[in-house]
Amino acid sequence: MIQARWWTSESDGDITCHLCPHTCRIADGKSGRCRARSNRKGVLYADTYGRTVTVNVDPIEKKPLYHFLPASDILSIGHNSCNLSCRFCQNASISQETVNTSPIPTDKIPGLCRRYSAKSVAFTYTEPVTGLEWVIDVAKVLKDEGIRTVLVTNGYVNPEPLQEAIPFIDAMNIDLKAFTEDFYKSVCGATLQPVLETIRLAVEHCHVELTTLLVTGENDSEAEIRALVDFVADLNPDIPLHFSRYFPQYRMPNPPTPPETLSMARDIARNRMRYVYIGNISIPGGADTVCPQCGNLLVTRSGYSTRIVGLKASTCARCGMSIPGVWDV
Ligand code: SF4
Repeated sequence: MIQARWWTSESDGDITCHLCPHTCRIADGKSGRCRARSNRKGVLYADTYGRTVTVNVDPIEKKPLYHFLPASDILSIGHNSCNLSCRFCQNASISQETVNTSPIPTDKIPGLCRRYSAKSVAFTYTEPVTGLEWVIDVAKVLKDEGIRTVLVTNGYVNPEPLQEAIPFIDAMNIDLKAFTEDFYKSVCGATLQPVLETIRLAVEHCHVELTTLLVTGENDSEAEIRALVDFVADLNPDIPLHFSRYFPQYRMPNPPTPPETLSMARDIARNRMRYVYIGNISIPGGADTVCPQCGNLLVTRSGYSTRIVGLKASTCARCGMSIPGVWDV
């Protein structure tokens, strides 16, 4: 635990946290909505600093990141917090409930990467932005060691803290959970606009991929998918966009996403986007990267097995088109 940043004191001893758009007002002895930041006698503390609920080595495709160090392993760590309350959360036992955590010294993380041949570190599983002080400190150490830092995030963070962090972040997968304020409010306990602001800011500074979990009957209408795709395509049609299959989890009983819905979303997106993927389901070609110019197969993916077959450095081996991403091949 360390003293937190991004807060102000109120005259009655309360603290207002400015890290994310919830702007929690926190009384002495209480925590904010994310449970990661507490007021102790008028000082805000980052309670999850340097503590994890889980540490794993994952294929980077699991984040998902498809255009960033493909076929590499990524050290994945998560702290015990989230500032959203998605009814379909797939990690609710560690994001929504308080559980035991273990310390992991910042200066030991590069050694772990070397031991497991991980080229990068992901803050993932839960919500990294609620522990942004630690993210920044770890990312600074990693940068000195030539190791990349990745955030897998809901994007619900205020611009000022994000701007401080982003020079140290190499890649982000941001959940764009839906394209209506109603969904964000009723299903996630948040709002859409700050997430869009995060995406706009992030794409200017680091590699970004986006993921939308299509929840049956909630965010899967053709009109909503078109609106979401238009937003992303207007920003940059080269942003890799992942549509992911939902399964009933936590407090969401709706049936799994029908495969036809995922295909429909992919077809809509491909009209305006160059790199569209389908995840959490095996659909032939759904996870492959194909050259948008000549149709050459560039990267094949099956489960978490990835093969680079048509890339030469960062270009299509057949037609020479430059393929956006960090390929290191
Ligand atoms: S980071 Fe946590 S404490 Fe701060 S405003 Fe967001 S939910 Fe509240």
